[in-house]
Amino acid sequence: MSLATLSLSEVQSGFRSGAFSPVEYLEALEARIAALEPTVGAFLSRDLAPARAAAQAADVHLPLGGIPVGIKDAISVRGETCSCASKVLAGYRAPYDATVIARLRAAGAIPFGRLNMDELAMGSSTENSAWHPTRNPWDVTRIPGGSSGGSAASVAAREIPVALGSDTGGSIRQPAALCGCVGVKPSYGRVSRYGLGAFASSLDQIGPLARSVRDCAAVLNVIAGHDPRDSTSLDLEPEDFLAGLGRDDLKGVRLGKPKEYFIDGMDARVRNAVEAAIRRCEELGAEIVEISLPHTEYAVSTYYILSTAEASANLARLDGIRYGHRAQNPANLLDLYERTRAEGFGNEVKRRIILGTHVLSSGYYDAYYLRAQKVRTLIRRDFEAAFASVDAIVCPTSPEAALRLGERGQDLLKTYLADIFTIAANLAGICGLSVPCGFIEEGSVRLPVGLQFLGRALDEAKLLRIADTYERAEAWSSQAPPLETP
Ligand code: GLN
Repeated sequence: MSLATLSLSEVQSGFRSGAFSPVEYLEALEARIAALEPTVGAFLSRDLAPARAAAQAADVHLPLGGIPVGIKDAISVRGETCSCASKVLAGYRAPYDATVIARLRAAGAIPFGRLNMDELAMGSSTENSAWHPTRNPWDVTRIPGGSSGGSAASVAAREIPVALGSDTGGSIRQPAALCGCVGVKPSYGRVSRYGLGAFASSLDQIGPLARSVRDCAAVLNVIAGHDPRDSTSLDLEPEDFLAGLGRDDLKGVRLGKPKEYFIDGMDARVRNAVEAAIRRCEELGAEIVEISLPHTEYAVSTYYILSTAEASANLARLDGIRYGHRAQNPANLLDLYERTRAEGFGNEVKRRIILGTHVLSSGYYDAYYLRAQKVRTLIRRDFEAAFASVDAIVCPTSPEAALRLGERGQDLLKTYLADIFTIAANLAGICGLSVPCGFIEEGSVRLPVGLQFLGRALDEAKLLRIADTYERAEAWSSQAPPLETP
């Protein structure tokens, strides 16, 4: 058996007992990556030499000592390319470490590899990557979800034990669901965004993807915390998210089941798997309470107004002067800007810049942007009201399992609507995670389904505890996709 398939805690005990070294482990991962990448395509690049040097020097007694962590291509690692899977940032190398990377290094971890994503984190299939699509390890004819599709696919394929992603409207949770791994979107302000390529700054959060809730908690322990370089990061007492894990029942836990999250149009098989998981939570002692989040139906429109508005402002900096791609032989400065952006951005990004610029333009600002901000408040209040009577919310992560590559075609509205269950959490700033809860069958393939738990802002400890209990009562998370390795 390859070392690559061991769980994080098994790897850590292996290091600490001297059964194998961080260098041997890294090499086992690299062998598996090399064997699988021609089919999975989760990585954009990786540089083994510095990782090996770090593994050689690793202090295995640190919290993540010697553990390689895959990094979404939106997160800056000093000296490495950081293209956000966009041509507009082709060749750009980050001049500094993101705060999460500095924290990983301080905890002994080894940032390893650049993981594929939808261009500038816009999308939910990783098909919008300017470089190549990533494939779902459970069925390589299918999408891994997105935008953190490379992170989810690499973790599910056992190419890497843990990875970082970013979640603006579901981009950690939805690919985790579609690839059968665990993904955590922390509460807004829990994790520093310094060094993350900004999509929509009031919604973006970095978070971990891993093969278990426990492994995600171990990474969150390291990356969470106040950062003076991110004015929205919160100054909180450090918490140990591992401390409360390991409970065997959910007695005394009240879980809200929002009626708006079980809708016509969702895949009935996904719904059945989620309903079965909720019954399991009940068997474990949780009390299931029907709740309502009445403004859910406005979440998608609100999100696509606010996120595109913020994106249009954030992406103004990609003008050919400061970073990455620059158009050749410009006639004048305006021509340089225009052609750089025309050549550099893909269609989805252009659509969103146009939409975002429109909703912010004078005459439309009040009708769209301002109104969406007000609806955002109503959505946040829905959650506040719900959390007055429940500990956490339980619902599907995605209304459907992984589609085939290209299956959705140009049906953008349907793609946007499929974000319905994840985006409200970002609008409200609360925490959420996705944990595997079974499979649906499509012919001979099994496709993972994700169960989502949502928690009150800054209630990660409780959320992780609940998800950990559910996860260990079932064996979904430990199942591996059917990939052939030599
Ligand atoms: N699918 C959503 C979008 O395309 C969410 C993306 C994200 O969370 N980065 O905007």
